[in-house]
Amino acid sequence: MEFKKIIKTIFFTEILKGMALTFKSMLSPAVTRQYPEEKHPAMPGFRGLHALVVDPATGKEKCIACGLCAAICPSQCIYIYSTEGPDNKKFAERYEIELTRCIYCAFCVEACPVGAIVLTEHYEYTDYSREALYMTKEKLMANWNKYMAGPKGEEYFKKFWHPTADDYRAYDGQPMFRKREG
Ligand code: SF4
Ligand code: SF4
Repeated sequence: MEFKKIIKTIFFTEILKGMALTFKSMLSPAVTRQYPEEKHPAMPGFRGLHALVVDPATGKEKCIACGLCAAICPSQCIYIYSTEGPDNKKFAERYEIELTRCIYCAFCVEACPVGAIVLTEHYEYTDYSREALYMTKEKLMANWNKYMAGPKGEEYFKKFWHPTADDYRAYDGQPMFRKREG
C-alpha cells in the first residue's frame, strides 16, 4: 500500500473532509424558498402555460390550423378542429390542449410555421380539476392577452423560440411558409 494511502486510512482524512463540508454547509444560509409566500424571481424563457398568439391588428388568433403542432406533439395532447371561413381560409374552430398530458417539450412552438403558439413564463396554474387544466382556444388566447401581449410577447417569442416565421426561407409562391400580408 502506498504511504499516502496508509496515512489516509489511519487518520480517516476522507471522512474528516466530508464532515468539514457538512459542518460548513450547516453554517451557510438556507436556500429553501418558502413558496408561495416567497415567489421565484422571473425565469426568462421558462416553459410554462401555453398561449395562442393573438394578432394585434385583427384581435384574432394567428393560427392557420395547419395541424403541424398536433402532428409533432409527442403526447398527442393537442386537438384541432378546423373549418373554412367565409373568405375560404382555413381556421381552427376549436383548438384545445390537455395540459395534464403535456410534457412541455415545446415541439409545438418549434413546429409552428407562423409563430402562433408559445409557452409563457407563467407557472402558477395548478388546480384540482381536469377541466381547469383543459385549455380551449378562448382560454389560450386569453393567456396571451394576460401574460404576453404587447412588446413582452414579441421580445420573448423572438428571443427564446426558434424557428419563428421569419427564420424560414421559401421559394416564391410556396403556400405554407409564405409570410402573411398585414
Ligand atoms: S409542449 Fe410538447 S407535449 Fe406539450 S403540447 Fe407542445 S408538443 Fe405537446
Ligand atoms: S402549427 Fe401553428 S398554425 Fe399550425 S395548427 Fe399549430 S398553432 Fe396553428
